[in-house]
Amino acid sequence: MSLEELYQEIILDHYRSPRGRGRLPRPTARVHHHNPLCGDEILLDVEVSDGKVVGIAFEGQGCSISQASASMMTEAVRGKTVEEAADLAEEVRLVMHGKPADEERLGEVAALEGVRRFPVRVKCALLAWMALLDALGVKPGEKP
Ligand code: ZN
Repeated sequence: MSLEELYQEIILDHYRSPRGRGRLPRPTARVHHHNPLCGDEILLDVEVSDGKVVGIAFEGQGCSISQASASMMTEAVRGKTVEEAADLAEEVRLVMHGKPADEERLGEVAALEGVRRFPVRVKCALLAWMALLDALGVKPGEKP
């Protein structure tokens, strides 16, 4: 299996069996983001306590890339500090704009790298991450 096929498998797996789907009982932030180019929607709940993302869940609809990305994101940032989560979102943003993905750092999220070849889908892949930054009160490209 090529790396590209492996990445496609990971994305499909997250799309078919999304992790982190649902709503939180006590979110500290709830944001709704959509990507009108593709019709993707994400409703993201985040619970931050003592500077840590202790809870994160999403509901949404749209293409496989947008929903798989949201699923991967919930797994990648749960338990991280706000700063670590914002750093990861920034890293994903840079990767989607051409930076080589560091698989050690990104884990399964590195699978999104392949989406770069389809510029129209980059917004799909980034939707959940931009929603995350919004929920954390961080502007893209800035530090928390
Ligand atoms: Zn999409």
